[in-house]
Amino acid sequence: MTEVKKAIVVGSGAGGAAVANELQGSFEVTVVEEGQEFKPFTRDLRASARWKKSGLFFDEREISLLFPAMRILKTKEIVLVRGRGHGGTTTISTGNAVRQDGPLKRLGINLDEEFEAIGREIPISADHEKHWRPATKRLFEICRDLGLSPWPIPKMGDYAHCRHCGRCVLGCPAGVKWDSRQYLASATARGARLMSGARVTRVLIQNGTAQALEIKLGLRKKTLPADLIVLAAGGLGTPLILQRSGIPYESRLFVDPVLCVAAVREGSDLDREIEMPFVVEQDGFIISPYFDLLSFFYNRRWSFPAGDIVSLMIKLADRPEGSISSRGVQKVLYPEDWARLEEGVALCREILSGLGIPKERTFLGTINAGHPGGMLPLTEKESRSFHHSALPGNLYVADASLFPQSLGMPPILTIIALAKRVGRVCRERFA
Ligand SMILES: Cc1cc2nc3c(=O)[nH]c(=O)nc-3n(C[C@H](O)[C@H](O)[C@H](O)COP(=O)(O)OP(=O)(O)OC[C@H]3O[C@@H](n4cnc5c(N)ncnc54)[C@H](O)[C@@H]3O)c2cc1C
Ligand code: SF4
Repeated sequence: MTEVKKAIVVGSGAGGAAVANELQGSFEVTVVEEGQEFKPFTRDLRASARWKKSGLFFDEREISLLFPAMRILKTKEIVLVRGRGHGGTTTISTGNAVRQDGPLKRLGINLDEEFEAIGREIPISADHEKHWRPATKRLFEICRDLGLSPWPIPKMGDYAHCRHCGRCVLGCPAGVKWDSRQYLASATARGARLMSGARVTRVLIQNGTAQALEIKLGLRKKTLPADLIVLAAGGLGTPLILQRSGIPYESRLFVDPVLCVAAVREGSDLDREIEMPFVVEQDGFIISPYFDLLSFFYNRRWSFPAGDIVSLMIKLADRPEGSISSRGVQKVLYPEDWARLEEGVALCREILSGLGIPKERTFLGTINAGHPGGMLPLTEKESRSFHHSALPGNLYVADASLFPQSLGMPPILTIIALAKRVGRVCRERFA
């Protein structure tokens, strides 16, 4: 009888769960995840807002004390948000499902088959549109009348049952939103093993082959041997593991910065609306209604009742330049990033003027970002192998680190498609 090879996947987010699901069966898969089981944040937000005046909310990094699945890293300019726990950042996503493989197609990568499979596995619809709140409908009309061609954004999940509660980034209390725990459940149901609370520190490499992972379980160190290792610790997590393993990567970090332009409009109730119901696409950025919880709790300019704030997000495709290492994150916004943000702010103000809000009554949020990637970008050379030459032959990456540039758009579907392909390549090469 031939022995089944052992594969270890690091991370259980979009890339990790998808690749684990692809590999299980052909390999004996273990998923190593730093975080624990995901639990949504359940407190009443309007009631919690009463504490704002107490001065208890002074730094965004506190969030993880109340809500361990959300982690924050800060640079001087940007608050970086990511998920930690089963499902990674997908559990705190807003569920947007858009195919964005243009930059990969330009490298000669065709992911049609993978996207077709995703279409069969994940329910995707814009059903939420039927129950938008009046303020959302009005914003959509204003954008349409300005010739901005807004479109309702498709979402992953069963949106006919969406309660429009506005808690998407805190974990959906109604089980409407799809997240990558479903791929994880499918893999574990077929025998994959999930190790929670285990932080991978480095890959142990000998004679050009990845032999094992070094992990930390609390204070204990452990070594996990494997025939195949796939890193999917996210755009900020994977580079750190590469660095500790002595593998070079590129300083091409992008993060897709987000800035909200807000104003007071009584009774808008956009804090109780689905996040990002529709989108307006512009050259290099998008605009979408978004009640920014981080700004609401931590930015003094947002000291108004949640239900009275109307807010539009600008999400930018930023210059892919920056880095993360054990010394911290180096990421600044360049003049072209600021210029696009300014363009976005002007357009948001024009949209809000359609609600009768003068420009001088608008206020800005805190710049934050949640789509990191780009530090081990694919090139034409790797368009078939999906394997970077800096990596040992049996070590792969399956997350946003592989993107050649920022998508400036929600990346989950494209990360899943890439991870599925990495899984297929690994099956064909090793299983
Ligand atoms: C608030 C917010 C809303 C978003 N909304 C959307 C959206 O609507 N649609 C969309 O397409 N995208 C959205 N995104 C982005 C999307 O969620 C991420 O880009 C995507 O989940 C990244 O997938 P990943 O597999 O690369 O990493 P992640 O999903 O971040 O998963 C990485 C996993 O690896 C684990 N890990 C990290 N380091 C280690 C280590 N050393 N050892 C073990 N485990 C480790 C982490 O705990 C995590 O679980 C959003 C992001 C944020 C922050
Ligand atoms: S608005 Fe509420 S019910 Fe709808 S997907 Fe978001 S969290 Fe779930």
